Amino acid sequence: MSDSARAMAGRVGLGLIEGNLRFQRDVFEPRRAAFEQLIEGQTPRALYVGCSDSRVVAELILDVAPGELFVVRNIGAIVPHSDDLASTSLGAAIDYAIHVLQVPDIVVCGHDLCGGLRAIVDGTSRVGSHLERWLRKGSSDVKGFDLLDHVSEMSLEELVERFVSVQVDTLGDYDVVAEARAEGRLHLHGAVYDPRTGKLRIRQDSGGFREVSPVEARASLLPPP
Ligand SMILES: [Zn+2]
Repeated sequence: MSDSARAMAGRVGLGLIEGNLRFQRDVFEPRRAAFEQLIEGQTPRALYVGCSDSRVVAELILDVAPGELFVVRNIGAIVPHSDDLASTSLGAAIDYAIHVLQVPDIVVCGHDLCGGLRAIVDGTSRVGSHLERWLRKGSSDVKGFDLLDHVSEMSLEELVERFVSVQVDTLGDYDVVAEARAEGRLHLHGAVYDPRTGKLRIRQDSGGFREVSPVEARASLLPPP
């Protein structure tokens, strides 16, 4: 590592530690009672599957507190097919969320301006790389629909919405999800976040997406406890 790179890394590291010190002082201490309540355990209201994109922070865009969301983020907010080896990580989170935490809802939240989706469509990730192999898992659903066959027919907005629908449909194919839904104790949701406006578009029963206000979106995705 060069001297300048080392100096930069030092500054970044120091910035993060300072951030934690601010958190301790400005957030944790004033809300100590709420944080101490979380020591007893967690009862999140939903499992959230979202993109790793640093601009799309689940707790921030849904305005929820620690303990309210069980979160899994990966590049593209992709749900691998349940029989794919790559499903182990997300599958474990789904198992835990349903069986142990007994969450009543799972939200798959994609977003506009998603680099992962862009790379799938453009085929720009290095062939054979982990990234390319991962992204390919998100383009087709369990019924044989492949997004890549329909790219030219859709606007960017439709593309990301259809992409989220593919992930939601794939999620429904996990045995544990299908079982919980059949018993009426689990609901699946799809959403698209727009980093340019802060707004969400929510998947409707018809399969289309509708823009709603942040307050309406939060109520729709996460019913009050
Ligand atoms: Zn993304």
